[in-house]
Amino acid sequence: MGARILLVEDNAANLELVRYLLASAGHTTVLARDGREAIEAAQRLRPDLMLTDLQMPVMDGFELLRHVRQVPSLAEIPVVAITAFSMACDREAVLDAGFSGYISKPIEPETFNQTIDGFLPPELRSAAGGGRP
Ligand code: MN
Repeated sequence: MGARILLVEDNAANLELVRYLLASAGHTTVLARDGREAIEAAQRLRPDLMLTDLQMPVMDGFELLRHVRQVPSLAEIPVVAITAFSMACDREAVLDAGFSGYISKPIEPETFNQTIDGFLPPELRSAAGGGRP
């Protein structure tokens, strides 16, 4: 049946690629361009999963995560960072901050949805076995 996923990304090319991949797995994607937009959308829509870029205008991914974890109705939503790591310590910073996980840029289309499934409950995972959504 697919999940409702909030995608937070200020880069149009990455946004389109991720949206395309999620749609191909039967998920519904809601878009936000920065952390502030994302919080508004999350409160309205209660997504099953949030995927967020780290570097964005207005409110970055770290600040977004802190806000989400402080709002009781949102605190349980998995939040996954999508980021281009420049150094090993960046990975530690992401996990130390409390993200549920991370996906490295550049996105690998072949494995992307499998990774996403790992953050979703079984009934919302993509139909990887070849079934219809
Ligand atoms: Mn960015």
